[in-house]
Amino acid sequence: MNNLVWFRNDLRIQDNHSLKSACDQEGDVIAVYFFDPRFYNKSDFDLDINVTLPFGKTGKYRAQFIREAIADLKAGLEEHGIPLLVFNDRPENVIPRLVQEYDITDIYLQKEWTRDEVEQENALGKALSELENKPQGHRVYDQFLFHPDDVPFENWKQIPRVFTEFRKKCEKQSEVRDIVDIAGYKQDILKVEETEIPTLPELGLETFTKDTRSAFPWTGGEISAWERLDHYFWETEKLKFYKKTRNGLVGIDYSSKFSAWLSIGSISARQIYWEVKRFEKEIKKNQDTYLLIFELIWRDFFKYVSLKHHNDIFKIGGILHKDYEWKSSERELKKWINGETHEPFVNANMKELAATGWMSNRGRQNVASYWSMHKEQDWRIGAAYFEHILIDYDVHSNYGNWMYNSGVGNDPRNRTFNIQLQASRYDGDGKFQRLWLQEGLF
Ligand code: FAD
Repeated sequence: MNNLVWFRNDLRIQDNHSLKSACDQEGDVIAVYFFDPRFYNKSDFDLDINVTLPFGKTGKYRAQFIREAIADLKAGLEEHGIPLLVFNDRPENVIPRLVQEYDITDIYLQKEWTRDEVEQENALGKALSELENKPQGHRVYDQFLFHPDDVPFENWKQIPRVFTEFRKKCEKQSEVRDIVDIAGYKQDILKVEETEIPTLPELGLETFTKDTRSAFPWTGGEISAWERLDHYFWETEKLKFYKKTRNGLVGIDYSSKFSAWLSIGSISARQIYWEVKRFEKEIKKNQDTYLLIFELIWRDFFKYVSLKHHNDIFKIGGILHKDYEWKSSERELKKWINGETHEPFVNANMKELAATGWMSNRGRQNVASYWSMHKEQDWRIGAAYFEHILIDYDVHSNYGNWMYNSGVGNDPRNRTFNIQLQASRYDGDGKFQRLWLQEGLF
């Protein structure tokens, strides 16, 4: 009678409810992670358009970040005697065998609800149902700041369309849960098969060296997530100035840069929240410290939006079912991706993204507005490129923000950005544009 933890977007040891529940049970714990080819193959994103998208779902930057997170997780779990098996395969092809071989009676996993992840779970469920001793599944929501059982909405239909209403209700009526841990847990080392973390070429991706200009130079994993938090909160106290710097474009410290670790769960939103609270007690409490929590609530909001609207977040009309005319031009796509449009500010941001997998929030809003509002190009193509290239891709935040910026989502104002005005406001001295466009333009 043993327990299997299937790690998904919860690649951490601290504050991981699936891991904690498994460790609290009788029997040993084995962990598993899948580089599921469905997320790495070239894909048409099911968009029903004439354009062939020249990229797959997971690109090299995120894949590398995940590889690093898995290496870190494997080493961390070993300290508790827990082996992590890693496969470049689909869960349904492997888990039934693990169940038989390691006498697994219970499987613990983070609950996901978006299309690809549900398909993945369904395929596994089908494969497991053919076993004589089907293990019991335990699925938990572990990616939220405010747990779905604690928010003041009886069902997802009640999730407000406007963020402010959602935030105010949650702030008033919900509490962030405490952290859980497996600090004292230790089991005897189990003898299991040897597995390897697949290389980028094995995942169908090219290797690369990091661009020295990157505003996101870190590696993946729980250790680096906490190093980053320690730097931003405790060593430099940059959190005190977050509100004043968060619209920045150059350097590592204009914003927290937590998103990439959050998206694969190397740190939890709850952990960040409780560190902000400690900071407020020990160092300073101001609008800046509050704003970081405010942004984490935005992150939650988009998760609730996708719980409410399911696959509408991937549809052309978005959650508003808008019947707009959208274009889909391969030429425009190439120009946008390569940073060859007539807008230098868009170009600088797109070149940064292509070279590093990172773009600031200010940049993302502008290039999205350029693509879908100025050029009236199918917003889902832009979102698909972001899905491929972003190091911090998160299905809810990506599609939620794209809809928001494209007039088919939660923005009550339906704005279009004046890109030149934005460039002069946020890059008045041209430093950012020079960094990515090199000499010659200025
Ligand atoms: P900080 O400013 O330090 O904020 C702290 C945290 O709050 C972030 O790490 C993030 O988890 C959350 N947050 C901040 N802004 C937002 C927001 N607008 N929506 C949701 N959560 C937010 N974020 C992703 O994590 N993954 C995505 O795939 C993604 N795609 C985006 C696509 C578009 C078109 C736009 C406009 C925004 C997108 N964002 C996405 C949101 C936002 O740009 C990033 O979360 C942010 O820039 C990450 O930098 P940071 O961690 O330094 O953020």
